[in-house]
Amino acid sequence: MNPVGRSLLAVTNRSSVRRVFAESKSGRRLSLRFVAGETLDDAVAASRTINESGARVSLDHLGEHVTTGTEAVSARDDYLRCLDRVHAEGLDANISVKLTQLGLGFDDDLAVESLGALAGRASEGGTTVTIDMEESQHVERTVATFETVQSRYGNVGIAVQSYLYRTPADLDRIVARGGHVRLCKGAYAEPAAVAHQEKGGVDAAFDALTRRLMAT
Ligand SMILES: Cc1cc2nc3c(=O)[nH]c(=O)nc-3n(C[C@H](O)[C@H](O)[C@H](O)COP(=O)(O)OP(=O)(O)OC[C@H]3O[C@@H](n4cnc5c(N)ncnc54)[C@H](O)[C@@H]3O)c2cc1C
Repeated sequence: MNPVGRSLLAVTNRSSVRRVFAESKSGRRLSLRFVAGETLDDAVAASRTINESGARVSLDHLGEHVTTGTEAVSARDDYLRCLDRVHAEGLDANISVKLTQLGLGFDDDLAVESLGALAGRASEGGTTVTIDMEESQHVERTVATFETVQSRYGNVGIAVQSYLYRTPADLDRIVARGGHVRLCKGAYAEPAAVAHQEKGGVDAAFDALTRRLMAT
């Protein structure tokens, strides 16, 4: 796995996270917002600093759309090591994970099994797992995977995208299972059949979903 693939993205619920650049060995320079570093040690150090400022942390191991079971299992194992370290260091941190990194799309059963392993390990340390939301073709399977694993472990949450027309209905399913929610606008180019195309529509949907979550 390349160094960028090993990077851990630390994000907080505050806007003070800095913008940094990461450079791979091959010389590809990538502008990565919110990157805490390229090693688990970097992520731990950044997390401690953020915790000391009073904010919680979610650690995201960069990488998505793996194509082999070996890569998916490797990503799961990296996350398990991350959780062990979070617990050992006493950090106030959880993990965020993309299901295509765990095999969704080519081995959905593996993705469910691996997410369960992560939720179980997180639960042992009293923390949670948040599922990132990816392209629209993955949304139904992502929500269904959330339902399966949340039913078993009760410490799983999920990101939802205000640009998608389906999100209010997905929110019903998520709230019904007591999942925590990360509301975002959406980061992918989606067709008009499934998503608002105007920024005003995305923003209005974001406002409506925010009000609904605040009232939940
Ligand atoms: C901690 C964190 C976690 C995140 N997790 C996820 C995740 O799991 N899944 C995900 O998809 N995204 C995720 N995002 C990204 C998020 O969805 C937004 O893309 C990002 O935060 C930018 O939003 P903004 O309000 O800053 O920008 P804004 O520019 O205000 O809004 C961006 C949204 O508006 C739309 N938009 C902007 N300008 C136009 C325009 N001119 N015409 C049409 N549409 C326009 C974009 O398509 C996008 O949907 C995450 C972001 C953060 C910070």
